[in-house]
Amino acid sequence: MTTEYQIRLDRDACDGIFACLVRDDRFVEASDGLVTVEGGRAEQDGDGSQLVSFNDDRLADARQAARSCPVGAIDVLTEVDDE
Ligand code: SF4
Repeated sequence: MTTEYQIRLDRDACDGIFACLVRDDRFVEASDGLVTVEGGRAEQDGDGSQLVSFNDDRLADARQAARSCPVGAIDVLTEVDDE
Protein backbone atom coordinates (compact mmCIF):
# COMPACT_ATOMS: atom_id res chain seq x y z
CA MET A 1 0.00 0.00 0.00
CA THR A 2 1.34 3.41 -0.96
CA THR A 3 1.40 5.93 1.84
CA GLU A 4 2.51 9.51 2.05
CA TYR A 5 4.80 10.19 4.99
CA GLN A 6 7.82 12.14 6.06
CA ILE A 7 11.00 11.10 7.78
CA ARG A 8 12.42 13.71 10.11
CA LEU A 9 16.02 13.20 11.16
CA ASP A 10 17.54 15.25 13.93
CA ARG A 11 21.18 15.19 12.90
CA ASP A 12 22.17 17.04 16.09
CA ALA A 13 20.86 14.10 18.12
CA CYS A 14 22.29 11.42 15.81
CA ASP A 15 25.22 9.62 17.34
CA GLY A 16 26.43 7.63 14.34
CA ILE A 17 25.43 4.29 15.83
CA PHE A 18 23.92 3.16 12.51
CA ALA A 19 21.22 0.91 13.91
CA CYS A 20 18.89 2.55 11.39
CA LEU A 21 20.93 1.55 8.32
CA VAL A 22 20.24 -2.15 8.63
CA ARG A 23 16.48 -1.56 8.96
CA ASP A 24 16.10 0.83 6.04
CA ASP A 25 18.71 1.33 3.32
CA ARG A 26 17.54 4.87 2.66
CA PHE A 27 19.52 5.83 5.74
CA VAL A 28 23.12 6.11 4.60
CA GLU A 29 26.36 7.27 6.16
CA ALA A 30 27.24 10.83 5.19
CA SER A 31 30.76 12.17 4.82
CA ASP A 32 30.61 13.69 8.32
CA GLY A 33 30.15 10.27 9.92
CA LEU A 34 26.49 10.79 10.73
CA VAL A 35 23.50 9.53 8.87
CA THR A 36 21.47 11.14 6.09
CA VAL A 37 18.21 10.18 4.38
CA GLU A 38 18.24 9.58 0.63
CA GLY A 39 15.67 9.01 -2.08
CA GLY A 40 12.78 11.26 -1.13
CA ARG A 41 11.80 14.87 -1.62
CA ALA A 42 13.80 17.09 0.71
CA GLU A 43 11.86 19.77 2.57
CA GLN A 44 12.72 22.62 4.90
CA ASP A 45 12.32 22.11 8.59
CA GLY A 46 12.59 25.05 10.92
CA ASP A 47 14.61 23.45 13.70
CA GLY A 48 17.49 22.29 11.50
CA SER A 49 16.35 18.69 11.18
CA GLN A 50 16.44 16.93 7.84
CA LEU A 51 12.88 16.45 6.59
CA VAL A 52 12.26 14.17 3.61
CA SER A 53 8.90 13.25 2.04
CA PHE A 54 8.08 9.86 0.57
CA ASN A 55 5.08 8.37 -1.17
CA ASP A 56 5.67 4.64 -1.35
CA ASP A 57 5.07 1.32 0.38
CA ARG A 58 8.03 1.49 2.76
CA LEU A 59 6.41 3.16 5.76
CA ALA A 60 7.03 0.04 7.86
CA ASP A 61 10.75 0.12 7.08
CA ALA A 62 10.96 3.76 8.11
CA ARG A 63 9.14 3.03 11.35
CA GLN A 64 11.49 0.16 12.12
CA ALA A 65 14.47 2.42 11.59
CA ALA A 66 12.92 5.02 13.88
CA ARG A 67 12.27 2.42 16.56
CA SER A 68 15.83 1.15 16.33
CA CYS A 69 17.45 4.51 16.96
CA PRO A 70 18.71 4.55 20.55
CA VAL A 71 18.74 8.33 20.78
CA GLY A 72 15.35 8.91 19.17
CA ALA A 73 16.75 10.98 16.32
CA ILE A 74 14.24 9.68 13.76
CA ASP A 75 10.56 10.58 13.58
CA VAL A 76 8.14 9.20 11.00
CA LEU A 77 5.22 11.54 10.33
CA THR A 78 2.01 10.53 8.59
CA GLU A 79 -1.10 12.50 7.68
CA VAL A 80 -3.10 10.71 10.32
CA ASP A 81 -0.81 10.56 13.31
CA ASP A 82 -2.76 7.97 15.20
CA GLU A 83 0.07 5.79 16.45
S1 SF4 B 1 20.25 4.86 14.62
FE1 SF4 B 1 19.90 6.99 15.24
S2 SF4 B 1 21.83 7.63 16.16
FE2 SF4 B 1 22.22 5.80 14.94
S3 SF4 B 1 22.87 6.55 12.94
FE3 SF4 B 1 20.67 6.16 12.85
S4 SF4 B 1 19.76 8.16 13.34
FE4 SF4 B 1 21.87 8.24 14.01
